[in-house]
Amino acid sequence: MRLIDEQVRYSATDLANFLVCRHLTRLDVAATHGLVQKPRTKDLGAEALARRGEEHEMRVLTALRKRGWLVESAYEEGDDFEVRIAATEDALSRNVDVVYQGTLQRNDRLGISDFLIRADLLNGGQGYEVVDAKLARSAKAQAVLQSAFYSRLLQEILGIQPRNMHLALGNSEWVTFRVKDFAAYERQIDRLFRDFAEPEPIFPSADTYPEPVEHCAVCRWQSACVTRRRADDDLCLVAGMSSRQRKSLKAIGIATRRGFAALNEPPTLPHIGKESMAKAHAQARLQVRGEERGEWLWEFVEPERTDEGELTPNRGLLALPEPVKGDLFFDIEGARYYSEDGKEFGLQYLFGIVDSADLDDEGKPRYHAFWAFDRAGERDAFQNVIDFMADRLALHPTAHVYHYNHYEPTALDHLAELHLTREDVLRQLMGRFATREDELDNLLRRLVFVDLYRVVRQGIRASVESYSIKRLEPFYEYVRDVELTEVNERALLFEMALDEGEAADDIDGRRVMQGYNEDDCRSTLALRDWLELRRADLASELAQELPRPTPPELPEVQPDPDLRMLREALLENLPDEIERTPAQRAKALMADLLEFHRRDDKPKWWRYFHLSRDLADEELFEESDAVAGLVFEGVGEQVKKSKLYRYRFPAQEHGFRDGDPAEDPRSGNLWTIYEIDDATGVLSILRGPTKLDEPHPSALIEPRPQYRKTTHAASLRALAQRTLDVGDGEWPRSAAFDLLLRRRPNADGKGEGPLRRPDEDDVAAGRRLAANLSNSCLPVQGPPGTGKTYTGARQIIDLASEGKSVGVTANSHAVICNVLDEVDKLARLDQLSIRIGQKRGDDERWVNRAATDADLVYTSNGKVRDALRAHDVDVVGGTTWVWTDPDLEAIVDVLLVDEAGQMSLADALACARAAEAWFYSGIPCSWLIPARVLIRPVVMSRRWDTYSVTRTRCLMTSGSSSSARVGCIPTFVGSPPRSSMRTGFMASRGSNFRKSSGKVGSPAQD
Ligand code: SF4
Repeated sequence: MRLIDEQVRYSATDLANFLVCRHLTRLDVAATHGLVQKPRTKDLGAEALARRGEEHEMRVLTALRKRGWLVESAYEEGDDFEVRIAATEDALSRNVDVVYQGTLQRNDRLGISDFLIRADLLNGGQGYEVVDAKLARSAKAQAVLQSAFYSRLLQEILGIQPRNMHLALGNSEWVTFRVKDFAAYERQIDRLFRDFAEPEPIFPSADTYPEPVEHCAVCRWQSACVTRRRADDDLCLVAGMSSRQRKSLKAIGIATRRGFAALNEPPTLPHIGKESMAKAHAQARLQVRGEERGEWLWEFVEPERTDEGELTPNRGLLALPEPVKGDLFFDIEGARYYSEDGKEFGLQYLFGIVDSADLDDEGKPRYHAFWAFDRAGERDAFQNVIDFMADRLALHPTAHVYHYNHYEPTALDHLAELHLTREDVLRQLMGRFATREDELDNLLRRLVFVDLYRVVRQGIRASVESYSIKRLEPFYEYVRDVELTEVNERALLFEMALDEGEAADDIDGRRVMQGYNEDDCRSTLALRDWLELRRADLASELAQELPRPTPPELPEVQPDPDLRMLREALLENLPDEIERTPAQRAKALMADLLEFHRRDDKPKWWRYFHLSRDLADEELFEESDAVAGLVFEGVGEQVKKSKLYRYRFPAQEHGFRDGDPAEDPRSGNLWTIYEIDDATGVLSILRGPTKLDEPHPSALIEPRPQYRKTTHAASLRALAQRTLDVGDGEWPRSAAFDLLLRRRPNADGKGEGPLRRPDEDDVAAGRRLAANLSNSCLPVQGPPGTGKTYTGARQIIDLASEGKSVGVTANSHAVICNVLDEVDKLARLDQLSIRIGQKRGDDERWVNRAATDADLVYTSNGKVRDALRAHDVDVVGGTTWVWTDPDLEAIVDVLLVDEAGQMSLADALACARAAEAWFYSGIPCSWLIPARVLIRPVVMSRRWDTYSVTRTRCLMTSGSSSSARVGCIPTFVGSPPRSSMRTGFMASRGSNFRKSSGKVGSPAQD
């Protein structure tokens, strides 16, 4: 927002700010009109962030130049806006390839876009398209809104609406959105913003309040807002209180912490859980009481009990294992933006461990520091830490590793690392370097790590505004050696020194950061001892023994020596990666894929045990693979022999969709979510006659993993053996080999040139190529709505009409059903008789109607096999469990893998035994997203999920990006954490994005 020539000019940032905080808009408007001084705080963190943003922008600029595109800057130091606007319009009129820092203006709207790129260079379109460089690693609502704002300005200037807009993300991803999908949204926000901002400026604002939001962490008004909240004794000073709770209380006139604490009973409010409100109320009362007395107060949280009244094991103070000599106390320091290649970010530069069995000269448990100043050092430090832990735990088998995992929920959400637990970090490093897997798995399997934050939050209430370990230290009288103010000043400078490769010589910085880390480790030890005393207090208060936690009985997932030998044989005599031939690269890839299922199962089990065993319902509320706070609402309609049971749930982020399986973490019952509706907050589950009396779930989590070891892994092993048998000879044509080698589809008898003929559209090309496909793989890609399903269905019908058998597979029955429906619809239109069958899952909604009508719904793989062998069916849909079955070897002529990007490469290749030819269909974005394939280098994401590693990216296409592209050749590259999948606009609840738009391979990467 700027005052230029007495006129207020609005920018995209103003709209984005309006989205995140209305109070910020009020303050900015007031400042623009001179009612209040805009703070000019010198914030080292903000400066460092800005500097990194500029560095990222420069990287994108360099990548664009490398493509040979002519880049012209529309900005010179000292130019005023009029000059910049004229320079931009001039560059646009001369059709410059890329306009850097283009300043766009129409009426009172002013925008500075990072890059404007000629659309014909990107996708053959007209005019220009906006590319904004964003340091974040996932597309945020505000960033897309800004791009839509620039796109509208471009449209008004050039008279052509850009087709797409793009974000060049901090992890080198290039995310593309269709402008028309967001144009109406941008106009609406613009209207709302003007209605809000344009009346007379007001200061101080009477209709907004500085409610804490994520943006506060980087907001220039932060200091003023903090002061105001404290002066008001605002509810946000109550530790752990959610914004929804605050809002609901304010709506009934309770706006202060003391006012809330003074209530005799916590109020019952719509859509707010009773228990969570009671917890917040108790917290407020304790804080106020502590303040009034001038003392640090604590009390027990009522221990959780089972339905039978027994203490729930492993909750709160009951999660503390027996203290023993040899217990370790652990902490990590990380630099969030460190990168050596502009792709992989974050460096864990200091690991500290206090060893209770090893006393130093002063008789204190010895502290050990493991430093890393670059990526190679990080690998060494990680290995040393795991080896150190393994050694110590071998000496003291009953010892544990204690850590404290608090993070502030209002922290910058794009700093995903802040949300990682210490265990997550270790898992991430294990994935990053593909080392110490079995050692770390062994520690995790034995439940060696103990998170004291969880013990505190479930077991103790304290009169503190935040449950960071520093705030708890007065309770156990821990005195830090290094002042926190000194740490705050040094931490960012030290991160900068790491960036510049000078950290190893920054002696003072190292002293401060090591002292800080040592304090954290020692404080963790002191906290554990204090909690032990509280545990004893609780035992005497309850007058009973408190059980110690016992490790769960985990199914053994042992390394397979035969598999190892196969892997070693594949890797034998391979040169360094850079020198490998395509065949050698394919062998190495195959070798890494061999252990995919074993590795992939591990994090799923870790995650499952954490969700089902460690977390209380309130904590599950925060987890995206759980939906919590379920309250039974009633029994709905009958569906065949089953009944729908409806449950209400409060708004929360979760990943469940209709038809998803889910598990009740308390009873272990498995359910299918029949319907889930975020708008009404109601979900229903289907209960068969034998399950009507089962207990109501209060939460649902992703169900326990299924082992794919037997069929999927065995199929991969067979493929690996075939790969090995090829030796140094010519690889025969087959779908799996073509995919591994990234070979051109064997479909047109040519070795080069576009697969699509000039006189063909994509559908015609796809049909012709499919008809001629011989022992090969034909990838089809395109954004949503570009006709991939239609093309696939046409190909299937053509083949089936010629008497060929076709299999259809995907990750879910719903996707398979969708393809089969399309086949059925088109065949009927053409009055063709195609016999469609399906191997059904649990949810009968995802059974194709044609299959039901023709009685071709199969309940076992054996029935699929018999039907195909007897030629009773032309097309059969089934998940990979069907096509990896050894009894179904070469059972169909062609297999269609739909939504291929959602499927791991390992699972897709495991289907190789079913057919020698495949169509491999997916949207560009999903081809970029984690195929859950674990190969080197393995990348682990936040939480426990194992993400990928391998994703497929189109390198050669024969069509435009707005249509399905046939015959692209996939490549395999490293991939981002899961968080980057959330890239679609979620209109109804919150401002994050859910997947709704396509991504294309980054020109910057090509
Ligand atoms: S500090 Fe937070 S509450 Fe205050 S204006 Fe900024 S974003 Fe809004």
